[in-house]
Amino acid sequence: MTDCIFCKIIKGEVPSSKIYEDDNVYAFLDISPVNPGHTLVVPKQHCTDLYEMTNDEINAVFTTAKRIAKAVVRGVQADGVNIGMNNGKAAGQIVFHAHIHVIPRFMNDGYHHWHGKPYEGGQQAEVAKRIVTNLK
Ligand code: 5GP
Ligand code: ZN
Repeated sequence: MTDCIFCKIIKGEVPSSKIYEDDNVYAFLDISPVNPGHTLVVPKQHCTDLYEMTNDEINAVFTTAKRIAKAVVRGVQADGVNIGMNNGKAAGQIVFHAHIHVIPRFMNDGYHHWHGKPYEGGQQAEVAKRIVTNLK
């Protein structure tokens, strides 16, 4: 894809702090990190999101994300790590080239988890049923 920023980074047309590269995967520092060491792991082949990734790509990208997570934690001496993927605008996706966020976390770094909200009566079973019937 010619106008995709991550494709340009993979091709070396836009500079990046490369962390790792192989035939299928490219990993580099996020330009605007949640914490220093925040790394993005992407398939080299352009695809929009998780649904467009082949299972082989998912395997390669997530396996690499695990390896990078360990290196990030050791490298910046983090206390924990979040692995995340935004799929779709409503989920906060800004760059539409599939990518995994590897985010180092520190005790008392000021970030909080999402606020959960309880199901209303009967809703939980209904939601579970709707999801199960949509499994393919
Ligand atoms: P999203 O919200 O799509 O999951 O996250 C996209 C991420 O890509 C953001 O965290 C953003 O900081 C990062 N990003 C966007 N443009 C660039 C860029 O040109 N270089 C790098 N290294 N990261 C970028
Ligand atoms: Zn792309």
